[in-house]
Amino acid sequence: MTEIAKSETGFVYAPAPESAGIARLKPAYEIFVGGEFRPGRGEAVKTVNPANEEPLAEVAEANAADVDDAVTAARRAYEDVWAKLPGSARAKYLFRIARAIQERGRELAVLESLDNGKPIRESRDVDIPTAAAHFFYYAGWADKLGYAGFGPDPRPIGVAGQVIPWNFPLLMAAWKIAPALAAGNTVVLKPAETTPLTALTLAEIIAECDLPPGVVNVLPGGPAVGQAVVEHPGIDKIAFTGSTAVGKQIQRSVAASGKRLSLELGGKAANIVFDDAPLDQAIEGIVNGIFFNQGHVCCAGSRLLVQESIHDELVESLRDRLRTLRLGDPLDKNTDIGAINSAAQLARIRELSDSGVAEGADRWSPECTIPERGFWFPPTLFTGVGQASRIAREEIFGPVLSVLTFRTPQEAVDKANNTPYGLSAGIWTEKGSRILWMANQLRAGVVWANTFNRFDPASPFGGYKESGFGREGGRHGLEAYLAH
Ligand code: NAD
Repeated sequence: MTEIAKSETGFVYAPAPESAGIARLKPAYEIFVGGEFRPGRGEAVKTVNPANEEPLAEVAEANAADVDDAVTAARRAYEDVWAKLPGSARAKYLFRIARAIQERGRELAVLESLDNGKPIRESRDVDIPTAAAHFFYYAGWADKLGYAGFGPDPRPIGVAGQVIPWNFPLLMAAWKIAPALAAGNTVVLKPAETTPLTALTLAEIIAECDLPPGVVNVLPGGPAVGQAVVEHPGIDKIAFTGSTAVGKQIQRSVAASGKRLSLELGGKAANIVFDDAPLDQAIEGIVNGIFFNQGHVCCAGSRLLVQESIHDELVESLRDRLRTLRLGDPLDKNTDIGAINSAAQLARIRELSDSGVAEGADRWSPECTIPERGFWFPPTLFTGVGQASRIAREEIFGPVLSVLTFRTPQEAVDKANNTPYGLSAGIWTEKGSRILWMANQLRAGVVWANTFNRFDPASPFGGYKESGFGREGGRHGLEAYLAH
């Protein structure tokens, strides 16, 4: 019998699950080196569905010798083929990859939701289309590099080592691979240990698109494989997305090596709501800002700064809205909040949330049923948060929002900038002049006005301060892969 769920708003939802079979899961996945899949020489691991803790597949892991082979293959491909190709020829390959991602979009979306825990609505409507859009976008640049503003004849750098996190597995791979290839570099990519499946399926797509062997190599594995990529002397450029702690370690290890480096690290973004903001719209932006992808978003609006005069009204509306969020099966098309990606991440979210209570903030979550198996955390709101408390300073990387208040625009700016991070910020007000004034004061790489978490391949993305350096996306994203 079909279980019918009734939300607090009175809407009745029948389950609407996407079939897991669409993901075409294989029992085992291999590493991708020199255009071929082959067993890794590291110890194979089981990747787990975080929504039910069931193993999904066995994934081979690379070791240092595999890294060496991948770098050799990438070097050969760079010198013999890829860097010599005219941009228009590289563009054809990138267009081909973009179209193949679109063609296999449904499969990739289900696979991503299985491996990561994110709602199918998000993988289907955001991750996969945006990944394809990045390949389309950079395909367009491949034969126009001389017009990108980096000199008349910009050259590629060489072999790029790319290490990515688990929160947007395919999208992060696309952010890294597309500009690197467009600019004429070859790539050794290491996906995150808990989410290797879509990157390996992308490798399959790349092989089917007949890319010359070695142009892209994909090496699943843990931190040791990442470190072997970063430290390999045959790599010319490192692009890393992940935590600030690991980013700092990488920066130290490549110091004086001559390797180029770009770092996309953590964040603790302020989402700032003024008393003249369109409240209903702001509520949607706040929810999207922190609960999209379970808050596993580097640019999440995790600090809500509300003008004091509207604090109570806004918090009440926000609670009403949070009561309508549906937590559960990531493959259900009605799900808003999926699973937390791993037991380790869940433990971190719990620890930081408990510290919020211990430091005196008020914690609130809507009533919701937490599934018995899997890793789950309810949408959580903290009010009465002090600026010095850990939940206002540290990146939680989960569905947890800290609410603070301000009285004047200057106070909002001061509080927003009172963080070691600087990745993004949001401003909600109907005054255009205030938006421009604020945007100039905020030390954040991206400032959204009356919206949040909008991504476009044509728009550069990146950090200030401990959120890293270098830009991905847009014309700016090419600079990280050009020796000009
Ligand atoms: P993490 O730093 O632990 O891991 C990221 C990647 O680095 C993984 O592939 C991991 O295996 C690898 N790695 C770990 N230690 C390494 C080492 N010593 N040398 C080389 N590689 C190593 O981060 P995470 O927990 O997987 O991801 C979450 C973090 O990523 C958050 O801080 C988030 O803000 C950040 N992030 C930033 C952006 C951005 O664009 N700024 C985007 C997404 C995520």
